[in-house]
Amino acid sequence: MCPNKQLKNLCYFCGLEGADTIEDIPPRSFFPDGQRQGLIRIPAHASCNGNWTKAIEYFRNVFSGLSGKNNFTASVLFDTKGKRSLQNSPKLRSKLVSELRPRIDFISAGGVYLGSKPGVYIDPDHKENFVNHMVRGLYFHHKKVPLPANVKIKTHLQPRTSAPLIIQSMPIVEIHPKVFKYRYLFANDHIHASAWLLGFYDVEAGTIFAITDPSGESQLGT
Ligand SMILES: [Zn+2]
Repeated sequence: MCPNKQLKNLCYFCGLEGADTIEDIPPRSFFPDGQRQGLIRIPAHASCNGNWTKAIEYFRNVFSGLSGKNNFTASVLFDTKGKRSLQNSPKLRSKLVSELRPRIDFISAGGVYLGSKPGVYIDPDHKENFVNHMVRGLYFHHKKVPLPANVKIKTHLQPRTSAPLIIQSMPIVEIHPKVFKYRYLFANDHIHASAWLLGFYDVEAGTIFAITDPSGESQLGT
């Protein structure tokens, strides 16, 4: 018998037994066809990931659409998968159009103008869904146990250039140079406290900073 049988049976998302599928982090659809190497694979309930599908499509279109032309992978992806999903969904089209904003100026902490990129309003429900799955998946991958469901994940999107300087001391993991890389930090004072910097495609635009906050855990303590 596999010594890790019990571990493999736990769902990374809800933490309960009975995982019946394998989830990829980052999602496979973030890669152009044929480029799927290096994915992190973790056990999940199909039912726990059912509501993630729409958030994945939403973020893939947003990130690959925002990425600069110098990111060939994102351009290819947006021209194929992104375009296909936009062609096939009038609802998604009108949603994205209504959420596109004029270009946003990026200013460094020292007040230096860093250029501008198209701004986009990010749907908060999709954001919560997407980041929850990404962070819980990566946490499980590193710690080999699920992050408890009552640990909150606080997050915001920001250009890498305005991220806290401390992130530069966080180890970096590159899953694919043009698709996804991340940095992480585990706190010494609490096993469930961690920080994550998720960089998609052109990391100038597609960067998510997230922190797992275990402060709500005590409410469930016995
Ligand atoms: Zn589950």
